[in-house]
Formats: sequence, C-alpha cells, structure tokens
Amino acid sequence: MKAAVSLGDLVARGLVEAAEAPALLPVEQSFRIRLSGAMQGAIATRDDPVARQFIPSVQELDIKPDESGDPIGDEVHSPVKGLTHRYPDRVILHVTKTCEVYCRFCFRREAVGDEGHLSQDEIIAALDYVSVNPAIREVILTGGDPLVLSPRRIKDLVERIGAISTVDTLRIHTRVPVVAPERMTEALVSAFETRLTVILVLHANHAAEFTDAARAGLRAMQRAGIMLLSQSVLLRGVNDSLPALEELFREMLRCGVKPYYLHHCDLAKGVSHFRTTIADGMALMRGLRGKLAGPLIPTYVIDIAGGFGKVPITPDYVVAGATPGEWRITDWRGGVHDYRDPHCTTDAQSVQTILQKA
Ligand code: SF4
Repeated sequence: MKAAVSLGDLVARGLVEAAEAPALLPVEQSFRIRLSGAMQGAIATRDDPVARQFIPSVQELDIKPDESGDPIGDEVHSPVKGLTHRYPDRVILHVTKTCEVYCRFCFRREAVGDEGHLSQDEIIAALDYVSVNPAIREVILTGGDPLVLSPRRIKDLVERIGAISTVDTLRIHTRVPVVAPERMTEALVSAFETRLTVILVLHANHAAEFTDAARAGLRAMQRAGIMLLSQSVLLRGVNDSLPALEELFREMLRCGVKPYYLHHCDLAKGVSHFRTTIADGMALMRGLRGKLAGPLIPTYVIDIAGGFGKVPITPDYVVAGATPGEWRITDWRGGVHDYRDPHCTTDAQSVQTILQKA
C-alpha cells in the first residue's frame, strides 16, 4: 500500500471523513502528514491507538503558551549544522528531516518534514567536529528517521563514524522497523557491519504497531549483533493504561527489544491533547512494578524544557525518615515498611549531605 501524504489521500482511503477535511486544512498547512502503508494496514478503526498517532486532529491547532518549536533545546546545543552536543560524551547527528510517518505528537514536528538529508559536506563538517573532540564516545543518528536513507548512504556514514578512533558506539533512533518494515533488507542490516557497538533504539507506542514483518526485521538486526532498545512516548488515548503498556512492553521483548525509555510527552506545539500528567505517569509506572518482570520495565523520563537534558521520573518507593539512616519503603502492592540503614549512623552519611558534597 502506498503512503498517504496529504489530507486528500486520507480522505480517499477512508481514514478521514470528507466533511472533516475543511477543518483539518490549517493542520495540514502547519504540520506535515505522512502515513506509511504498514501503519495504514495496522489501523482497525478511525479512532484506534494507531490511528490517533498519525491522523491529524483539529486539537493540534490549540497551542498552549508553554509549548515550543524546540521543546528539548536541540538548537541551544548545536555547534555545527545538523549536530546537537548536549552531553559531554555523545552527540546527536540529525542526518535527515524525512520520516516514513509524521507522528502527530512529535517533539520535532516543526523541524521534520522537509524533504532532504544533510549533504555530504555537512556530514563531513559534523564528523570533523566529533574527531577533534575526543571526549565524544558515541554518535546518535536521528532526524527525522535515519533509516529512510539508502543502505549505501548508511554504510558510508557507518564507515566514516567507525574511522574516528575515539568513538565506541553508534546509536540509531528509528521508527522504521515497525512503520516501514519493508526497509529492513539484508543490505540495510549489513550496512551496520562495523567495529563499533551498534544500538538500535526502536520508537513504538502500541502493540498493534507490530506486524510479522516488523518482528522479522528486528530479529534480523538482533542476529547481526545489534543491541535492541526501545523508546515510547506516554500518550493519552494511545497507551495511557496498564493493559496497553503491559502488552506493548511484552511485544517488544518478544521481538528481542529491551523496553528502555518511556518519555513524558514533551511541550511541543499543539500536542496537549496527548499529554498525561506526571502524576498519572508515575501511577502507571508504579502499577507496572510487580505486574512485569524487571527487564520489561522502562525508565519513565522527562526532557527538561530548554535543553537541560533528560531525567528519570521515579515513583517515590523510598523516602527519608526523620533522622539519618531512617527510610520508609513502599512495596509494589502499596504496603509501607520502615527500614533502618545499619551503616548510616550520622548526618554526614545521609543522602542529602553526600549529594551536597558531590
Ligand atoms: S518518526 Fe520520529 S522524528 Fe519522525 S515524526 Fe515520528 S516521532 Fe517525529
């Protein structure tokens, strides 16, 4: 099935009612539309969790005052075109602005959609920056979606990064294995033959996105020695329930993918209808504990607006008591237990004091 790339295509395929289209025109003018063939096939009803991620809504026109075009601060830390250097030991290389799908909640929704990739000269300039900064140990390919590049271009990029002796790890952030599994060819898998440790971070948000073709592509990557991790976004109306998250993470592990990050929905423009509260997210994480084994549970994280980085949001299982060494610990059923740390006898050994010194 061909990708749907306009409101007209969505109407023609019965994914948007003709009567709804006029109200959606301003959405199409603001944010790109693209829905891959595989994801059209995964949609069962117009309002299901897959459809909600890709079919435009008039709610996207409701832009809140604290929403921004660059909610995680990519531009704040960009020393060279196409490169973000936020943390000392890693850089993000935005190799393309193109994706196989345009997700309605994307935190880069104002940056993605331009056809076109970084030019060869721009890639060389970005990698020159990496090679003169030996503290950089990891290059993360993102976009857009880096796996829309041809296997030949990816192989060339992998070889150039592998030639920088100070880099150990190559990470790829992608939605392609689920949204366009036909791209997971032998040529693509073999493009990642390198001395580098390669980590593929799959972006998927609902178990219904996984097809047999997606499962086969992910297993092929795993057989090639590529480490498979995931990132998902907690999305109201898509996966903000314990059964949806449980099934998503079980499906990932069935495909050899370790659930890694569950992102709190960023402050991108026009996505407030997808955003849960942090309290809701913490309650869901607490609910998963005990239901799922440890390897199935990702870390719930938030990117601090303005480019200050990502931090975990953890339900408070352990809180300090009144005196140093005293703790109150909550188990997965909600039972509260006192714990006396036998090694902590003075205030100098309390967490706050140690953190202040660090
Ligand atoms: S595939 Fe990724 S970069 Fe592209 S629109 Fe979706 S979330 Fe954004």
